[in-house]
Amino acid sequence: MESNGDDDSSSFSGYLLDGHGTFPSRIDRRQSSLPSVIVIGGGISGIAAARILQNASFKVLLLESRDRIGGRILTDYSFGCPIDMGASWLHGVCNENPLAPLIRHLGLTLYRTSGDNSVLYDHDLESYALFDIEGHQVPQQTVIEVGEVFKKILKETDKVRNEHSDDMSVLQAISIVLDRHPELRQVGIAHEVLQWYICRMEAWFAADADMISLRNWDEEQVLSGGHGLMVQGYDPLVKALAKDIDIRLNHRVKRIANGYNKVMITIEDGRTFVADAAIVTVPIGVLKANLIKFEPKLPEWKRAAISDLGVGNENKIALRFDRVFWPNVELLGIAAPTSYACGYFLNLHKATGNPVLVYMAAGRFAYELEKLSDEAAADFVMLQLKKMFPDATTPVHYLVSRWGSDPDSLGCYSYDLVGNPADIYDKLRAPVANLFFGGEAVSVDHQGSVHGAYSAGVLAAENCRKHLMGRLGSWDKIELVSCREELLEATVPLQISRL
Ligand SMILES: Cc1cc2nc3c(=O)[nH]c(=O)nc-3n(C[C@H](O)[C@H](O)[C@H](O)COP(=O)(O)OP(=O)(O)OC[C@H]3O[C@@H](n4cnc5c(N)ncnc54)[C@H](O)[C@@H]3O)c2cc1C
Repeated sequence: MESNGDDDSSSFSGYLLDGHGTFPSRIDRRQSSLPSVIVIGGGISGIAAARILQNASFKVLLLESRDRIGGRILTDYSFGCPIDMGASWLHGVCNENPLAPLIRHLGLTLYRTSGDNSVLYDHDLESYALFDIEGHQVPQQTVIEVGEVFKKILKETDKVRNEHSDDMSVLQAISIVLDRHPELRQVGIAHEVLQWYICRMEAWFAADADMISLRNWDEEQVLSGGHGLMVQGYDPLVKALAKDIDIRLNHRVKRIANGYNKVMITIEDGRTFVADAAIVTVPIGVLKANLIKFEPKLPEWKRAAISDLGVGNENKIALRFDRVFWPNVELLGIAAPTSYACGYFLNLHKATGNPVLVYMAAGRFAYELEKLSDEAAADFVMLQLKKMFPDATTPVHYLVSRWGSDPDSLGCYSYDLVGNPADIYDKLRAPVANLFFGGEAVSVDHQGSVHGAYSAGVLAAENCRKHLMGRLGSWDKIELVSCREELLEATVPLQISRL
């Protein structure tokens, strides 16, 4: 159940308010003896945490600052078809993916863009059409050959990593490799294609190659089964997971007071909510910007971990046309002398049948795009398209995302900065008294992904549940309900297509 925020906080039974921003001296469990948890943030991670605790018969309230749930999952329907302006791929089209049971249960279709399990190739090489900045198509043979060179360069960076005890950026390592192996250097259009591959790598991390840690870039574990687009968008999954959860929209949390056996949460309009514990799942960008005041302050080790983790940016410009004027490939790329000037469009027509292209920009360039008006951003990408396809028509509709400046996200997802301490994720995940932490950035192995955020929410909920059961003892009414998951397991296989 989602409500728009007009209802009074006291309607959430089991929570006492004193209205003065201090802990009540005596906590009275008048309406219920069930343990209570407040989840902060209604993205996939917070919703997953709330679901787990609700299934375990806890009293759960979810506070969400926006007027919608989903967070960095945002499926727009204004084109007359679903367009994901945030997450759109399921990374790991396999039964081990924790989202697979729900996707199967809902009968959602995946369009597999690549069977490769690496972090770099979420599209198969043969499904690209690359153009230079003048709009001339690059021969496919060059694209494939330079792709092989890129793989060799990355393999050599592994040696550089083993030789250096100090971390360095991926860009620095590539430059060392090219100095050592001049035969791997590319010139002319091949150099531009190499820059395009670097641009694609930067897109995975949503950061420029001079910022990405060499030590950790390929440490990330990717599930098997390759990468699949959610053809109907991610929204149905979020809605299904959120069903029947007490969600209060337009409830922006400003203060979290972590007491001896209670947590008190204050929202923007001054109202307060009290519970036995809370799970914080707001984006790492929001935590970095100190938009929420913690009392007492979070310990130094936790603050250091928040500040040390990188947060990237990626933006999308979705364009709907009245007809298709581009080739039937999955990605249209622009190769340029620097990775910053490269770019690419996802061809949604191939995956969904709708005449839609989605331009994607990552890292510094994604921030630059946010300085433009929507119209100027759409004009910018149309200039590029017109060079590639002189008969390109004006879009009938366009959408522009601004994840970097959106105060509810302040970036798109986390990544490892150069020199990140190895235990950073353990520290980010570690609870502080009655506060637990979820969200994509604390995922055990899959930061920056929907399934990673989901698992992080589940883990935070499990830890919170164990903590409260230990603290409050067992009680009659608690019965761990896992029937929902069992039900989902017993359904049809994943529906995967490639048109
Ligand atoms: C452009 C883009 C493309 C992406 N592509 C993919 C992809 O293809 N595949 C993939 O797996 N992942 C992708 N991701 C990453 C994925 O979207 C995220 O990892 C995941 O959705 C994060 O979920 P979350 O619940 O951790 O955070 P969020 O979804 O950000 O949820 C946090 C919630 O907290 C709320 N909030 C913020 N501040 C407050 C406050 N003070 N009080 C209350 N609530 C607050 C926010 O409004 C938000 O709803 C992409 C992300 C972006 C931005």
